[in-house]
Amino acid sequence: MTVELRMIRGHRLGAVDATPRLPIPPAWTVDAVCAQTDPEAFFPEKGGSTRAAKQICAGCPVRAECLAWALENGERVGIWGGTSYRERRRLHRQQQRQETAGEAAA
Ligand code: SF4
Repeated sequence: MTVELRMIRGHRLGAVDATPRLPIPPAWTVDAVCAQTDPEAFFPEKGGSTRAAKQICAGCPVRAECLAWALENGERVGIWGGTSYRERRRLHRQQQRQETAGEAAA
């Protein structure tokens, strides 16, 4: 591990780990069925069929985690958790309405 004092816009931020890091994939990706399939099915051309990817997702043990991650991160491209971006947008709006209703009832 490398440490350095990092200065950003004139402020010393102290010792930080300067080891380059790649993003750490979420733990659930270990069980992702799509990791063993053709990734192109999950990123169809505009207007292309999503059926093949959704069929794979239907049998995936981490579908719920995958969908939750995609919703949380606003993933705009591809099939995640068996849903297209349009479907995720709809789910996100439903979640927001439910949260708003819950806050109003409290
Ligand atoms: S639900 Fe679909 S996109 Fe998500 S990990 Fe499983 S196979 Fe991949």
